[in-house]
Amino acid sequence: MTFSAVNARRQSVGVFVSKVKVGGGAPVAVQSMTNTDTADAAATAAQVAELARAGSELVRITVDREEAAAAVPEIRNRLQTMNVDVPLVGDFHYNGHMLLAQFPDCAAALDKYRINPGNVGFGQKQDRNYAQMIEIAVKHGKPVRIGVNWGSLDQQLLTKLMDENSKAAEPLDSRAIMHEAIVQSALLSAARAEELGLARNKIILSAKCSEVQDLIAVYRMLGARSDYALHLGLTEAGMGSKGIVASTAALAVLLQEGIGDTIRISLTPEPGGDRTREVIVAQEILQTMGLRAFAPMVIACPGCGRTTSTVFQELAQDIQFYVRTRMPEWRVQYPGFETLQLAVMGCIVNGPGESKHADIGISLPGTGELPAAPVFIDGKKVKTLRGENLGQQFKDIVEDYVARRWG
Ligand code: SF4
Repeated sequence: MTFSAVNARRQSVGVFVSKVKVGGGAPVAVQSMTNTDTADAAATAAQVAELARAGSELVRITVDREEAAAAVPEIRNRLQTMNVDVPLVGDFHYNGHMLLAQFPDCAAALDKYRINPGNVGFGQKQDRNYAQMIEIAVKHGKPVRIGVNWGSLDQQLLTKLMDENSKAAEPLDSRAIMHEAIVQSALLSAARAEELGLARNKIILSAKCSEVQDLIAVYRMLGARSDYALHLGLTEAGMGSKGIVASTAALAVLLQEGIGDTIRISLTPEPGGDRTREVIVAQEILQTMGLRAFAPMVIACPGCGRTTSTVFQELAQDIQFYVRTRMPEWRVQYPGFETLQLAVMGCIVNGPGESKHADIGISLPGTGELPAAPVFIDGKKVKTLRGENLGQQFKDIVEDYVARRWG
C-alpha cells in the first residue's frame, strides 16, 4: 500500500480525549454515536460496547435531559464491568449548561463535551450559557468539541454577515456568506473558549454541512485559518449507499489534502439495522485511502458473463465474513495482521494477475474453465484447489499464513 499520494497532514494541535490522541500527528481516529435513549443505561452501555468492539475509538452519547445526565455515571460503570474503556463524549444542546452544572458526576464521567454554539441560547444568554459549559470543562479538565452545524447556525452572526455583504462594493453570493458564517462561528467560539481558560490542546472543531461541496469548502477554510484539531463528518448523510457515497466523496477529498483528525460517518440505519455500520464504513474509507489499517482487505472482482455460477460470489462473501469473525482473536495473537490482503477472483482473465498482487489470492474457474482454483501466496502459485469445499481449504491456507507471518 502506498502512502505517497496522500498530501502531508495539516499540522494541528493534539488533543487527548482520555487515552486517545486526536490531531497533533496522531492517526485519524474513528468515532461514532449511539441512537439509544441515554436514560436507558443498560441499552446505551450495550450499544457503546458494540460500537467500541467494532473499532470506534470514541463514542458519543446524547445528553438531552436530566434522566440522561443522571444515567451517564451508570453507563460508565457498566462499561467498566464489560472491560470497555472507550472515551465517552456527551452531546449537549440547549440545556447543556444546566445539565453539566446540576449533574457533576455526569460532567466528571464524560471524557469530552460536544457543544454546538448555535444551540445554547440567544443574545446575552448565549454567551452566558456557553461560558458556563466551557468553565465546567475547564474545572473538570475535559476537552470540548465545538461543533457548528449549518442546520443550527448562529442566526445573529449569519444576519450580521449578510448585512455587511449587502453593503459591500462587490457582494458575494449567499452560499459564500453561509460558508464564512459557519467558519467564523467555529473560530469565534474557539477564541471565546480560550479566553475563558480552555487550553488550545483541549479544543476540537467541527463545522458540519449536509452537502458535499459545502463541507469541502468550509473545511478547507477552517483548515487554512486555524491549527485546531478537526473532526470531519458530513451531517445527515442519509441511508444506505447514498449516505456512504456522499460521506466518502466529501471526506476523501479532505483527507487527501491532509485535513481531518477524526471522522464520523453519519449514516441513517435501516429500521433494526446495525449501528456498527458507520464504524466499518469509516474504517474502510481510511483503509482504502492507505491512511490506516484496521482489518484484512478482501479484493474481489465484480464478476461478469464469465462467472455464471454463484460459487465465486459466495466465496468472496464467506471469506469477508470469516476474516471479520476471526479478528478479535487475531488481534490478540497476531499483531500487524490488519495489513493482510486477500484476493478472490472470478476467472483467469484477471484472476492470477490480481491474486499475485495480494498476500493470498485465489482465482476461481470461470464458465468453461477447468474446475480448479490456483492459489497464490506472496506472488507465487503454491497450489491448486479442487473439489466441493474450496472455501474451507482457502480458510485453512489463510489461517496458516496469518500464524506463520504474524505469530
Ligand atoms: S476476473 Fe474474470 S470473472 Fe472477474 S470480472 Fe474479470 S473477466 Fe469477469
